Amino acid sequence: QTMLQKHEKDPYPDWKAGTPVPYAALCKTFSLIELTTKRLIIMEHCSRFLRQVMRLTPDDLLPTVLLMINKLAPDYAGIELGIGESLIMKAIGETTGRSLQVIKADQKEIGDLGLVAVKSRSTQPTMFKPKPLTVRGVHQGLMAIATVTGNGAQGRKVDGIKKLLSSSDSHLKEKVDINKDKGGPSEAKYIIRFLEGKLRLGLADRTVLVSLAQAVVAHEAEVKGKIPSTTDLENGESILKTVYSELPSYDVIIPAMLQHGIQNLREHCKLRPGVPLKPMLAKPTKAITEVLDRFEGQTFTCEYKYDGERAQIHYVAKDASQSSGVSSIFSRNSEDLSKKYPDVLAKLTTWVKEDTKSFVLDCETVAWDMLEKKVLPFQQLMTRKRKDVKTEDIKVKVCVFAFDLLYLNGEAVVEKSLRERRELLSTAFVPIEGEFAFATHMNGQELDEIQTFLDESVKASCEGLMVKMLDGKESGYEPSKRSRNWLKIKKDYLSGVGDSLDLVVLGAYYGKGKRTSVYGAFLLACYNASTDTYETVCNIGTGFSEQVLEDLYAQLSQITIARPKPFYSHSAGGQHQPDVWFEPKYVWEVKTADLTLSPRYKAGWKEGVDPAGEKGISLRFPRFIKIRDDKKPDEATSSRQVAEMYRKQESVTKSKGPSVDDDF
Ligand code: ATP
Repeated sequence: QTMLQKHEKDPYPDWKAGTPVPYAALCKTFSLIELTTKRLIIMEHCSRFLRQVMRLTPDDLLPTVLLMINKLAPDYAGIELGIGESLIMKAIGETTGRSLQVIKADQKEIGDLGLVAVKSRSTQPTMFKPKPLTVRGVHQGLMAIATVTGNGAQGRKVDGIKKLLSSSDSHLKEKVDINKDKGGPSEAKYIIRFLEGKLRLGLADRTVLVSLAQAVVAHEAEVKGKIPSTTDLENGESILKTVYSELPSYDVIIPAMLQHGIQNLREHCKLRPGVPLKPMLAKPTKAITEVLDRFEGQTFTCEYKYDGERAQIHYVAKDASQSSGVSSIFSRNSEDLSKKYPDVLAKLTTWVKEDTKSFVLDCETVAWDMLEKKVLPFQQLMTRKRKDVKTEDIKVKVCVFAFDLLYLNGEAVVEKSLRERRELLSTAFVPIEGEFAFATHMNGQELDEIQTFLDESVKASCEGLMVKMLDGKESGYEPSKRSRNWLKIKKDYLSGVGDSLDLVVLGAYYGKGKRTSVYGAFLLACYNASTDTYETVCNIGTGFSEQVLEDLYAQLSQITIARPKPFYSHSAGGQHQPDVWFEPKYVWEVKTADLTLSPRYKAGWKEGVDPAGEKGISLRFPRFIKIRDDKKPDEATSSRQVAEMYRKQESVTKSKGPSVDDDF
């Protein structure tokens, strides 16, 4: 409370109605958030600030929210951040007149490049006072850094960083102390952390979304001279959550909300072709009996689980009013895959009935054997180039297996039951052999029918089955949720823990014997979304061929860093340190025999699996399966999921909680 009061007394004299939001004001809020771990207090700081922005400079609401969630644009815009440490160190050195050697030594000692920047700035004599930074200016500056391409791009990125850094903290009367209050409200610190892709405030995207809803509701009430009720706040929150799950783009939502008010947002912001939704995901199961227990008394349906790449296909026919139309394919993490699948896009219109004018389909693209007319293994699909594919050069043909329909002829259909959506799918589309098909399904409810269908799916080169709720409200499509209404059974569910894990590579150990010139083993981690940290879960040295180890060395040796990032949670004991550390970049799929508690690893240590709160979960006999190019590090298996798998295995409790959107 005292901190809040202090903040109130510390206004920004330059920030008047209609003037740009000072970046310093946002950083002040960040620094208050950084000093607490309490979610409610974090939310309070966040929504207070957003309310102030609405009151004074609503035009800056969008860049403010984007800077809070460490993004410059929606995911599908493909704007990559995460600038490597070496470029950042170069920029800090050049801005502050310190040598790269000194910066590197500082980084080794301090470990947080944000604080290294603060330290460097504070030892630097200031000749002149540059103009203070604004939120919109910083957003533009960062955007310019992220989007430069072509000749000399690296150099221009460094220049861009230098420009921002040299204007940072010009408003501060006293120099910031890196030891006090985690470096305080320093702008340099947050600019650097933004560039690294981690603000490390404990400010989850979800919290920003809820705070935004609260700020808007409170502001709208204030304008009418009212105080918002709890129901108003809850309604606002629920509206914004639903809208964001169907249309995850603040670039669209925020202007609409400012123009039409939060109450009318649903009318103006609906699922729309061109903006990818976060896909619905499934929960793993270990046995058919587990599936039957879950769906007891309710109808479900089984589908083949194809082993390819998830594809959300968006289409709007060109017509007189809409000049260009829409025709795009998006990946599981909303990346635009249109350049990878020009052959698929070219065929879209041949799959539809004449009166199908627009749609969004949820599908799996699978490599297809034209001669044998059957599905090929996933590895074949991965040999396709990711970018600038020319249709005439394509060797691996794909067949698209559609399993859901989210939008049809101008209308979102996500709330309809799966039975109805399937019905619409089959009336609006026509299968074409080897190009477009409906996922094979079976509606039998008996154990032996499911077992037979599972065997058939494996014979057809699939990974197993997806079992889905078929009727009623619960069978609606739940964007961004890992839902209990979709279960997966993988063919190898009888051994192991029922599902593979997708883990981030944090470090490596040099090989022994024949393997001394490459890494022989690796340190992997899962992702804790609530603390925004990577928690170590195992060392892995099995499942790699010599060739793969060489390829991995070539890839990973490019992204080594001097010491672990401050957001890596690992056991500090000396003998367990890897020989090299990496930037968090690559996600690998890994199988394990089972899970066990270990003082050496940190996975899920805050999830209550170890009553003493010290041990983490670790994988026993982990085995490398493949690189998951379609997942970013923060889409790795979450600590909560690892804990859930562990609990299931231990049968400590039977997981029967509600759906959680841990992939949000
Ligand atoms: P996985 O490693 O199993 O793909 P994931 O985290 O990517 O894990 P899950 O929700 O666990 O996703 O599994 C569902 C995935 O299976 C979907 O993302 C999709 O790519 C694929 N899939 C294949 N066939 C189907 C189907 N019939 N229905 C839904 N998803 C399917």
